[in-house]
Amino acid sequence: MSDRPTAIVIGGSIGGLFAASLLRAQGWNAIVYERSRGDLSGRGAGVGITRELLDAMGRIGLPFDPSIGVSVRSYVWLGADGTVRHEHPRPMVASAWSSVYRPLRNAFPEADYRTGMSLARIEETADGVTAIFEDGSRASGDLLVAADGNLSTARAQYQPDATPRYAGYVAWRGVVSEGDVPEATRAAVSEHLAFSFHEGELMLTMIVPGADDDVRPGHRRYYFIWYRPTENEAALADLHTDADGKNHGLSIPPPLIRPELQAEVRAAARAQFAPEVSAVVGAVPQLLLQAITDLETPRLVFGRTALIGDAAFIARPHVAAGITKAALNAEALAVAVGDGTGDLDAALATYAAQASDFGKAMVGHARALGSYVGSGPDSPPPPPEHARYRDPVNVMLDYGAPSLLHDADPAKFMVSAGT
Ligand SMILES: Cc1cc2nc3c(=O)[nH]c(=O)nc-3n(C[C@H](O)[C@H](O)[C@H](O)COP(=O)(O)OP(=O)(O)OC[C@H]3O[C@@H](n4cnc5c(N)ncnc54)[C@H](O)[C@@H]3O)c2cc1C
Repeated sequence: MSDRPTAIVIGGSIGGLFAASLLRAQGWNAIVYERSRGDLSGRGAGVGITRELLDAMGRIGLPFDPSIGVSVRSYVWLGADGTVRHEHPRPMVASAWSSVYRPLRNAFPEADYRTGMSLARIEETADGVTAIFEDGSRASGDLLVAADGNLSTARAQYQPDATPRYAGYVAWRGVVSEGDVPEATRAAVSEHLAFSFHEGELMLTMIVPGADDDVRPGHRRYYFIWYRPTENEAALADLHTDADGKNHGLSIPPPLIRPELQAEVRAAARAQFAPEVSAVVGAVPQLLLQAITDLETPRLVFGRTALIGDAAFIARPHVAAGITKAALNAEALAVAVGDGTGDLDAALATYAAQASDFGKAMVGHARALGSYVGSGPDSPPPPPEHARYRDPVNVMLDYGAPSLLHDADPAKFMVSAGT
């Protein structure tokens, strides 16, 4: 028997792997329990890589090579006639979700990454915590890290009312091979994050790595995400109803999205946006639909259970920092608990305060940016600072989370793992 402290990490995605890797480096016995049996690499599309994420990966000995991403040099606003209405420099790297996940996963010991393990519930014990899985098996430890994502089982157990809240708009998304978009699109978009605005609708178009994270010219893909208000409950339900009349809640499998809805989306893109970007919407083989939600979770720590990443706070995608938020939560938790020999309850209280401030700032900034599109049914009157985002240029200037990440008090948010 080892006398090292044990961490049960629920969820083997970015947040869980960051937390488990950092805790191991500090002497913990950290075991990951992941519900999915398959490889998670195929999950994401493009992700924006922040400086903070690169730093966090470097601190756990996994330097990220920016050349495996696609570089963007500026943000541009393309008017409906294709002219550039506004441009400002903003160098960034768009990479693939798997380019972050894969190195984390490869560096983690296979024997301690248990797949097909779905958390059912948590029991607090006198000196620790026990996870009970759907198959009836149990794992006990000193700390449980709940990195189980936006529909967290751990969060639901302790705070059943803390559920993601619909933002009042949906996102249509899609990717298409570089070779399938016209030359005019490549010329207008390839080095930019292209913004298109139309009466409370916002579309972003960009180039991202291709299959297997290929960044060679000709092998990349174009990606668009288009936010459209759908406040009306009946209209929202209709979007998620298939051709047989079956409603799929807020998550419809893409092939079941009704053809006439897909045709309407492609036609609206042609009518509203520059031909250079509506060509991307027209060319994607399969449109994807996602209802936008967010959540400020009132409490992040229950006994020896700590929520991190999307289990803790869900920000709308406009801050483009879901992965960074998960990584920084994991670091803050690891720094707080140290090697596990100190007062764990006090350490978890420290973590909760830090992660709560950070999460609220992220969710708030994403709401402000998203207020250009909507604020959600039955929401309180918008705070005055949202007025700034009626102007598309201000949306572009503040898009992402640069001010939160770069200007944040380092002692508060940018905690170092001490490695
Ligand atoms: C399918 C998918 C695709 C995504 N694509 C992108 C993208 O393209 N760009 C981007 O910026 N962000 C993307 N994200 C979001 C981004 O990855 C998250 O913001 C970030 O990964 C936060 O990570 P997390 O570890 O907190 O949660 P998640 O990445 O959501 O991971 C949670 C993990 O917990 C597991 N899990 C859930 N419930 C249980 C349970 N009861 N027991 C055990 N395991 C459980 C899940 O299988 C999952 O692996 C995606 C997330 C997912 C799940």
